[in-house]
Amino acid sequence: MSGADYSTRGAVAVIRLDNPPVNGLAHAVRAALLSGLDKASADADISAVVLLGAGKSFSAGADINELGTPRSLLEPILPTVIREIERSEKPVVAALHGVAMGGGLELALGCHYRVAAPGTQISLPEVKLGLLPGAGGTQRLPRAVGLETALDLIVSGSSMPAEKMAKSGLLDEVIEGDLLAGAVAFAFRVAAQRPLPLLRERRVSHPDPEAFLMFARNSVAAVAKGYPAPLKCVEAVAASVKPFEEGAPIERQLFIELVSSPESKALRHLFLAERAASKIPDVPEDTPTRPIRSAAVIGAGTMGGGIAMCFANAGIPVRVLEVKQEALDKGLATIRKNYEASAKKGKLTAAQVEERTGLIKPTLVFADVAEADIVIEAVFEDLAVKEGVFQQLDEVMKKGAILASNTSTLDLDKIASFTRRPADVIGTHFFSPANVMKLLEIVRGRATGKEVLATVLGLAKKLGKTGVVSGVCDGFIGNRMLARYMEQALLLIEEGALPPQVDAALEKFGMAMGPFRMADLAGGDVSWSIRKRRYAERPDSRRQVIADRLCETGRFGQKTSAGWYRYEPGRRDAIPDPVVDELIVSASREMGIARRKISGEEMVERCILALINEGAKILEEGIALRASDIDVVYLTGYGFPRFRGGPMHYADSLGLYNVVRSMRRLSRNAHGDPSAWEPASLLSKLAGEGKSFNGSAP
Ligand code: NAD
Repeated sequence: MSGADYSTRGAVAVIRLDNPPVNGLAHAVRAALLSGLDKASADADISAVVLLGAGKSFSAGADINELGTPRSLLEPILPTVIREIERSEKPVVAALHGVAMGGGLELALGCHYRVAAPGTQISLPEVKLGLLPGAGGTQRLPRAVGLETALDLIVSGSSMPAEKMAKSGLLDEVIEGDLLAGAVAFAFRVAAQRPLPLLRERRVSHPDPEAFLMFARNSVAAVAKGYPAPLKCVEAVAASVKPFEEGAPIERQLFIELVSSPESKALRHLFLAERAASKIPDVPEDTPTRPIRSAAVIGAGTMGGGIAMCFANAGIPVRVLEVKQEALDKGLATIRKNYEASAKKGKLTAAQVEERTGLIKPTLVFADVAEADIVIEAVFEDLAVKEGVFQQLDEVMKKGAILASNTSTLDLDKIASFTRRPADVIGTHFFSPANVMKLLEIVRGRATGKEVLATVLGLAKKLGKTGVVSGVCDGFIGNRMLARYMEQALLLIEEGALPPQVDAALEKFGMAMGPFRMADLAGGDVSWSIRKRRYAERPDSRRQVIADRLCETGRFGQKTSAGWYRYEPGRRDAIPDPVVDELIVSASREMGIARRKISGEEMVERCILALINEGAKILEEGIALRASDIDVVYLTGYGFPRFRGGPMHYADSLGLYNVVRSMRRLSRNAHGDPSAWEPASLLSKLAGEGKSFNGSAP
C-alpha cells in the first residue's frame, strides 16, 4: 500500500487514494494525501487537483482497524487533512465513485468541488458503530443537501445514490463514462474561478429549523432505545445552523463522548467480530473451494423448507426430497405460502415468486439428488433416521459432493462415520426460520476436509448468512450455552418468579425476547424430546419438572396456542395464563420450595452469567475458535442486544474478576446445583491475570 499516488494530467494534479480494498483512511493514506497536496501547491505548473480512489471506490472512510488505536490520533488526522484542503489556493475536486462513505464523504465535503460517477453510494454510517461523523460531516452535509435530508442520512446511516442529490450542493456534476477524464476536464474549467467555494461558508437554509429539530429529537428518542448515538447525531446536526466555527467544536465534543461509550465499544467489537468469524487459522483464504451450482435438501419440514428457500433466494437450483408424497406436497405448499406472503408485503414481485419456486424441485427418489454439489439433511432429530439417510447419500451422491447435516444436537463425527467419505461431511446448523435468521453454525467434524469447510464458509456468504465455525459437542456453541441459560430461567420459576417476570427482566436487559417467550416460539416439544434423550443418557441428571409437566399437558408453545403463555388463534401475542402460574406454584410446593420474591437484577445476573460461564468452557475446549465468535452467534442467532456486544464482550465490560466474584456469591444459593457456579478454568485464569476474553487469546 502506498497510501496515495500522485500524477499529473497537464496542469491538473491527480491524487489517487490507495489502500485496498476500499481506500480506508489509514494514517499512511492521510499522510500521502497531504504530501500530494503540498506537492501540487508548490508546483507552479499545477492549477487544480483531482482527488479520487484506486480500485472500485472513492473511500469507505476510517480504517476500522485503526479506530481507538493511537495511530488513529496520529497527525495528520482527517480534520487536519480537510482543513489543509480548504486552505488550498488551488481548487480541489473530489471525483466520487463506488462508495463515498463516512470519513471518505467527509473528505469530499471538505473539497471545493465534487463530481461523481452515476451510482456512487454516499453515506455517513458512523451511527451504526455508535458514533457520529467526527470530521465535519454533521456540519457540512446539511449545508450541502439541507437539514432534513442530512439528518435522515446521519441518523439512519443509510446510503443514497449520489445522483439523487445532483441538484443539491453536494454534486457539481454527474460524469457519465470515464470519471478521471471527466473530472480532469471539470478541474480545467474551474481552475481559474475565484473565490473558491467552501461548504463551511454556506448557511443551512430551512424555514423553521427549531420546529424541525424538536420534531426530530422526539421521533429519534422514541426509537433509539439503549443507544446514545442517534440523539447525539441530532444534536450535532442541530449545531449546523450555527456558524461553522461554533458548530464544529460541538460535533467534535459529541464525537469524543461517543467514542468512549460502552455502546460504541460494543458495536465496534461486533463489527470486527463479524469479519473475524470467517477467518480460520488453519484454513487460509486461498484454500481451494468446490463450486456450488446446485443443491439438495433431505426433508421438507420446518427446516428443510426454509433451507431450500435460502438456496432459491440465492439463485441456486435445489431439489427437495421427502419420504412421502403428502409430506412433500405440504412442504412445497408452505414454501409457496411463505413466498406469497412476502409478495403481499411488497418484498417480492410476482415474477420473483415464480422464479424462486421454480428453482425448487420436489422428488421422492434419492437418484434425483445424486448430482447436487451439496446436500443438506434436515430429517427428524434421530440418529437412526440420520444413519439411514447418510448411508443412502453415500451410495448415490457423486464424487466430491458435500454431505451436510442440519442436526442441532447429534454427534457429527458419528454421522460422518455412517459414510465412506467423512472428509466430505460437515454440519450446517441453520436457525429457525432458516430463510430469515442470519446465523449459520458451521460444524467442523474431526474428519471434515479443509476444502469442504472453506466451501461452506463461502456458501454461507452467498446465502446471506453469517457463518461461525463450531467444533462438535452437544448443542454446538449456541444451544449448548442456551441450555445453561434456560436452566437458570427454569430454576427462577421454581424458586418464586413467574415466566412474564423473567421475560420482562431479560427484555429490559435488551434481549429481543425473554427465555419463555422464546421457548414458546421454538416449540416446547423439540426441547422436551432432547431432554428425554438426555435423561436416558444420564439417568442421574436433574429433571426439569415444571417444563416436563407443561409438555405433558400438550402445551408446546405457539404451535399449540398454549405454552408458557396462551395465544389467541392466529396471533403471536403472549398472554399470561393463570393455569401456568398454578402449575408452577403447585410444583414448587411439591418440591418443598418456599417461594420468594426475586429481583429483576438477580434474574438477569443468573441467566447471563450462566451463559458466560458455558461460553468460557466452550472456548477453553476449543469448540469456538475465539470469544468474538461466541458473541457473533449470540447476536445473530439469539437476539442478544447489540449494544452489549455479545455475552463474552459483556463479561469483559463487567470485568472478569467481578464475574467470578458474582458467581461465587451465587453458588451460596442453596437451591439448584451450586456446581453450576463453579467458574470455568479459563474464566478463573483470565480473571486472576486481569485479562479479558476478547483481549487475549486463550
Ligand atoms: P420436521 O419434523 O419439521 O421435519 C422433518 C422432515 O423430515 C419431515 O417432513 C419428515 O417427513 C422428513 N423425513 C423424515 N425422515 C426422512 C427420510 N428418511 N427421508 C426424507 N425425509 C425424511 O423437523 P425440523 O424441525 O425441520 O428439523 C429437522 C432437523 O433440523 C433436525 O435435525 C433438527 O434438530 C434440526 N433443527 C431444527 C430446528 C428447529 O427450530 N426446528 C433448528 C435447527 C435445527
